[in-house]
Amino acid sequence: MKNILIIEENKTIANLLAQEIRYKIENINVLISHSYEEVLKYIFDKDTKIDFAILDLNFPDAKDGEIVKLTLAKNIRSIIYSASFNQDLILDILQDGIITYIEKGGNKSINTVIRHLQTALKTDETNILIVDNSIAQPSILKSMIEEIGFNVYTAKDGSEAYDFVENNPQIKFSLVLTHFNMPNIDGIELTLKLRKKYTIEELGIIVLSASDMEDISTKFLKIGANDFINKPYRKIEIKTKINTVLENLSLFEEIRDMANKDFLTGAYNRRFFYDSGTAIFLKAKREKRDLCVAMFDIDKFKNINDTHGHDIGDVAIKEVATILHQTLRKSDLIARFGGEEFCVLLENISREDAITLFEKIRDIFEKNILNVNNIEVRFTVSIGIFYGIQETIDDMIKIADNGLYFCKEHGRNQVAINKID
Ligand code: GH3
Ligand code: MG
Ligand code: MG
Repeated sequence: MKNILIIEENKTIANLLAQEIRYKIENINVLISHSYEEVLKYIFDKDTKIDFAILDLNFPDAKDGEIVKLTLAKNIRSIIYSASFNQDLILDILQDGIITYIEKGGNKSINTVIRHLQTALKTDETNILIVDNSIAQPSILKSMIEEIGFNVYTAKDGSEAYDFVENNPQIKFSLVLTHFNMPNIDGIELTLKLRKKYTIEELGIIVLSASDMEDISTKFLKIGANDFINKPYRKIEIKTKINTVLENLSLFEEIRDMANKDFLTGAYNRRFFYDSGTAIFLKAKREKRDLCVAMFDIDKFKNINDTHGHDIGDVAIKEVATILHQTLRKSDLIARFGGEEFCVLLENISREDAITLFEKIRDIFEKNILNVNNIEVRFTVSIGIFYGIQETIDDMIKIADNGLYFCKEHGRNQVAINKID
């Protein structure tokens, strides 16, 4: 759990920020302080390590940026959220630890704060590949970027970099920082090769050039690089450019999620299930592999809505998504088909293991007690499974659905496999 300290004199703004952060970001502990004095208390509290700070610049008891200087000195990554544009002070502090400066005003600026914070929170799971053949520079660059908190990998030329990305699909790279002039595959060829595989929405590419070669830089942008950095490398420039690229990636991800995911549960929606599921289905059919489709539906869900209200009904639906995400693999496709009905698609599982797995999940729901505002809610689910392969993905879903219907007809809270009517 990370601790974030909001340093803001205005109580309404501080509370609004805290509320938005708690609502949009999981596993974060939000602390609020309204004065320099309170900040000192938190920062020197041995038991609480402050990971991030969102801070205003102006305080009656600290008018000259004392607070930001303090958070910087304490290595707390800080976002400045302020209406006062003291240019000299900002230029002075927009270095090392500062993530960014966001001008206060309106709801949109709070969203910007949240987005920067989300990107910053992902730093230690963000993988960056540095490709550079010079001897001394990569290690300087490497340590510079590692210092920010990213996971850094290195390759000595384009060919090694490309092979590394190809052979390690489990490492999801957000950014490749490549030098321009390299033996074997140079920066241009590497960019072209990477762009064949990864769009600008999936992977950022920043090119490092030896000198101010404008024509080369432009060429790189045209073939799909996001940006370029000239030597000598300046920390502030590197940080800012990396941040911008990562920001864009998370914006793209947000847009993708809005189109593909269900708002209430965060599970995929039916349309995405069909798009992605059809690709998986066609591949499995070509390779003569079996698949497993399972339909879930909460038993007597209307009773939950009628007894406890629609809001608690919604919590129950979210609980289904949570349990499915916890019990299934990352590679399994989990979608909310509508209401309290979910459909999942699993690859690489045997028939026996599928039966054991879904029986186990059914049992988890049966034993689970959902506690909402001290109200205990219990519910069971019925699960219809299809195992094998059919002519179309629709045929498989239809059989899973028949199974679900069979469960409902035979007392609910059970699993049925391959029920064909
Ligand atoms: P069964 O065991 O046969 O499935 O009984 P059931 O009561 O669960 O019946 P059914 O699946 O037909 O009930 C679906 C209900 O789900 C009807 C609808 O009011 C409710 N519902 C649909 N979407 C939502 C939603 O987003 N939130 C909430 N709270 N309720 C929803
Ligand atoms: Mg139901
Ligand atoms: Mg239903």
